[in-house]
Amino acid sequence: MTVFEAIRIDKDEAGYRAGYGTMSDADLMPGDVDIDVTHSTINFKDGLAVTGKAPIVRRFPMIPGVDFAGRVTASTHKDFAPGDLVVAGGCGIGETHLGGWAQKARLSGDWLVHLPQGLSPAQAMAIGTAGLTAMLCVLTLERFGLTPQQGTVVVTGASGGVGSVAVALLARVGWRVAAVTGRPEEAEYLKSLGAAEIIDRAELSAPGKPLQSQRFAAGVDTVGSVTLANVLSQTQFDGAVAACGNARGMDLPASVAPFILRGVSLLGVEAVRPRLAQRREAWARLARDLDKEKIDRMSQTIPISETLNRARSIVDGKVRGRLVVEIA
Ligand code: NDP
Repeated sequence: MTVFEAIRIDKDEAGYRAGYGTMSDADLMPGDVDIDVTHSTINFKDGLAVTGKAPIVRRFPMIPGVDFAGRVTASTHKDFAPGDLVVAGGCGIGETHLGGWAQKARLSGDWLVHLPQGLSPAQAMAIGTAGLTAMLCVLTLERFGLTPQQGTVVVTGASGGVGSVAVALLARVGWRVAAVTGRPEEAEYLKSLGAAEIIDRAELSAPGKPLQSQRFAAGVDTVGSVTLANVLSQTQFDGAVAACGNARGMDLPASVAPFILRGVSLLGVEAVRPRLAQRREAWARLARDLDKEKIDRMSQTIPISETLNRARSIVDGKVRGRLVVEIA
């Protein structure tokens, strides 16, 4: 029996708690690929899981961490062999299936993607589910038919993980990007990622009129609630907003006016289901389009011993960009 280090969440008579501990390979859940995890990351959802602020974790004990990268050590899956470098994320990992904040993982090869060429495992985790979601938002806007020639794209929650990657990606493909942030001190950081304009989060925070001045051709919203309602009200004729997050709230106190009077579309984006073809496409685009120097600028590497504290602070909106957790 192999014992390995893991962060675990338990829930029993003693309550709901996250801590550092050990598990053994006998604890691992069914799967046809075994992996030595080298890197993981902290997503907003991991913060919710660690703090118990939302019912993310569906079995106990749980190893949190919705993403990881590592090297295959054993496989009976046709697409993977020992030595392969792989990336996993979503698919219930860290929610219903043991996650990435541990030295070992076992899961279905149907949830895995080979590490894209040109990315290191650490860079893949600097991207993580947050970056994948940002890419899916960009692909969604592109499939809708929007192009940079149509005007400005707005990104809310811009200093966060999804927001940072979205700003960098959209700027890279030619959009004029307006970055919405509540942290004015991050203006230079956002400009270095490619933002052309910084909008104070407060401008979009209070309930506004159903139709407001048309400022944006497109949007990526990570925040939800009143902020998303205002973004919709400020989107121009035939524009669209890709909504992927709820950092401010799950509610959407909006009217139908932007939809029925300006032809605005609200496009939902989720990065949880496997949908391997879409994942592969998104990872390939990320490896191609995301400037490696910007990946390094937006990410910080931390040891596993700091993971729980930083996971708690992401829920308070205090993390800039992306955190990479070094496991190996
Ligand atoms: P982060 O915590 O890294 O970023 C969220 C950002 O939102 C913050 O940095 C902050 O940006 C802004 N924000 C926080 N609180 C508020 C508030 N009260 N009002 C307005 N803005 C606020 O999280 P991620 O980027 O990792 O995730 C963003 C959202 O996307 C989360 O809700 C997450 O659950 C969701 N998500 C959804 C996925 C899906 O499959 N649909 C996958 C991945 C993430 P700033 O300081 O710049 O204002």
